[in-house]
Order: sequence, then structure tokens, then C-alpha cells
Amino acid sequence: MGTKHHIPFLDLKSLDTPYRDELKATVCAVIDSGRYIGGPEVESFEHTLATATGTQYAVGVSNGLDALRLSLRAAIELGYIHRGDGIIVAANTYIASILAITDNDLRPILVEPSPDTYNLDTSLINEAIAHAAVHGITVSAIMPVHLYGRTCWDAALAKAVERHRLFVIEDNAQAIGAQSEIPGISGTHVTGGLGHIGAFSFYPTKNIGAIGDAGAIATNDERLAQSVRALANYGSDRRYHNIICGYNCRLDTIQAAILSVRLKYLGEITAQRQANARALDHALLSCDTIIRPEMPSYAPSHVWHQYVVRVKPRPDDSDASLDKRRTQMRHALETLAGITTDIHYETPPHLQPCYVSTLEHAPLTQTIRLAASVFSLPIAAALPLESLKALAKVLSQC
Ligand SMILES: *Cc1c(COP(=O)(O)O)cnc(C)c1O
Repeated sequence: MGTKHHIPFLDLKSLDTPYRDELKATVCAVIDSGRYIGGPEVESFEHTLATATGTQYAVGVSNGLDALRLSLRAAIELGYIHRGDGIIVAANTYIASILAITDNDLRPILVEPSPDTYNLDTSLINEAIAHAAVHGITVSAIMPVHLYGRTCWDAALAKAVERHRLFVIEDNAQAIGAQSEIPGISGTHVTGGLGHIGAFSFYPTKNIGAIGDAGAIATNDERLAQSVRALANYGSDRRYHNIICGYNCRLDTIQAAILSVRLKYLGEITAQRQANARALDHALLSCDTIIRPEMPSYAPSHVWHQYVVRVKPRPDDSDASLDKRRTQMRHALETLAGITTDIHYETPPHLQPCYVSTLEHAPLTQTIRLAASVFSLPIAAALPLESLKALAKVLSQC
């Protein structure tokens, strides 16, 4: 095809070009202050994040996994949930969601995703809770994961939460800035503020990224906020006074300062990704070898952390043949169109070596089929028109 473009899957360095001077200045200011843990930068960032999420409290922590772990630990300490309880979670999530659950001696109740939204199929929640009860497991919580940037919060989920009085911890690692059409428990429409507590990751590749690891929680529950803050700081409520056996999971000052700069541009970063998604959708409109991700009717409900397509199944396809065609498609895109793609995720958590022989679950055929057929196109930066055309042409011939 002779395209002159090479499109990497994600190029953080070039994405940062418009912000580089401001980011450097903020790092210099932290060095000049001589204060590297805590301080006004962390407080200011927490305030900004709480405001953006529509919650009263935000607490910066070391990373997204710790935000999830500490949230669940705090809920246990406060008696909202108990060790051994079941937690409803999508089976096709990133493994960190599941690790946070098992790390707290809780049980993941894996639920199949909907192939349209790639999010937990909310029509299956009641059945999953009933099934767990048969096995003697009390389900006391749900972890909606807003996977790929798409809000996982609909009427069925809200109803199940009310009916079963579930504690709601959102995994908002991929969806900062997304919204729901219907309000959450605390009345806000913004992900991370829909449930009782929301966990954020600022891993560098997320829509808002630190220059290293970082995370946060947001909540309207003062006790949860205080508990997470204490747990992240050796379990101390004040200096050298430890009320609980905690961890060291604090947010670095330098990361907080970087994140305050980034958050200022959340609106434009999100708008760019949404425009990129529309451009990809338009370019792939007549391509019948793949299935495009559904464009939600309520645009703010998707912030496009990933743009995930899947190989269109033929009547005789097996998971293995889908996987094989996916490899061919990705190879053709790389060699003929210069477009690098990625897979989120090739192996679901329950099939990972660390869980495969220990985690109990219902059959997860949808999860396994998606794992065999999804792949992600570059979404963070706009593709040149020539590459959009090459993308459609190459995929149509696969
Ligand atoms: C990235 C991610 C996490 C973990 O965040 P880290 O900051 O990398 O620890 C958790 N859940 C999901 C869905 C993620 O994508």
C-alpha cells in the first residue's frame, strides 16, 4: 500500500508535546520546594479530583491497584462488607480488579460481559447473586469496572444495588471524566462518584497519567475517606499514632503536581479521544470483517480509553480460528498500513496461572470468546486520513 506513516499504538512522548513546558515547570517547583511527600500539591490535587468527580473527598494513593485494595480494606474495617463475602465483577476486566478482591480475602463472583458494551452484563447480576447463595456465599458488594472508558452504570445495575443493598466500589481506572445517563448513589453522574467509593489509576498510559505510578479514591463517605487515608499511611490517624495495621501507599508530591496540570486538560483530552473514535467508526463503517465497538447514544458515557474492535465470527468459527484471524489482521495492519495494535486482554484473569486452579466460577464462554477475538486500535492521537483509509482497506481484505 506504500503508506508513509508509521502509527505506534501509543506515543506518550508526542502526546505530551503541548504540555511539556508546563509539566517541567511543575516538577522544578516541587524540587525547589524541598517537600517530596504530602504538602499543598497533594491537597490541591485531591481537592481538584473531588470537584471533578462531584464528591466531597478524594485521597491520593500510590497506584490504581492500591486504590482498589485500600477501598475494600476500608469497607471491611468499617463493617460495610466482611471477609469471605462475594463481590460481583466483570470476568473480562484487567487482573488488578480481581487481585484487589482476593487480596482482601473476598471472593470475586465473575459475571460475563455484554459483547455490545464489553461491560458486565447487568441483566445477569440477580442470577449471579442467587447462584452464589446456593454455594453459601453472601454477595455484599459489586465492582463496576468502566472498561475501555465506557460507563458501567444502568438502571438494572442501580436496581440490583438497591435490592441487594450492595456496597459499590467502582474501578474507574479507565474512565476518568465519563458520565452516566442515570445518577449514582450519591446523586452524581460522573464515574468514580457513582458508587460508595471510586478507585482511579494514573498509570502513564491511562487517559490522565502520572510520570510514574499514581492512584486515588473518591467518595462522599467521610469515614471511608479517613480510613483509606490512614491505611495508606501505616494506619496512622496522626503522626506516630497507629490505629490500624496499614501500608505505605501514599501519593508522591511530584505526581500530585503533575496530575493537577493534567486534570486541567481533561476536557480537551476526552474530546480528542471521542473525535478519534468517531473518525475510526466512520472509516470502518463498511468494513464487514470486524465488529466495531458500539457508539453509545449518550456520548459522555464513553471516554475511549481503548477503541476495541473484534473479529467478526463466521458460522463455523471456533475461538481458536478467531484468534488466528486476529493475528493475521494485526500482522496485515502492521506490515501493510503501518498501524500497530494491541490486545486488551488476551487472557482473562480466571485463566491466568495464579487463578486457574483456585478461582471458582460459572462457565465464561462469552469472556473467552471476546478474549480470542478483540483487538485495540490506536485511539489517543488522531490518525491521518491516509491511515484511516489504509486501515479500512487492509481489514476488509482480511
Ligand atoms: C490500570 C488498571 C488498574 C490498575 O491500576 P495501576 O495504577 O496500574 O495499579 C485497575 N483496573 C483497571 C481496569 C485498570 O485498567
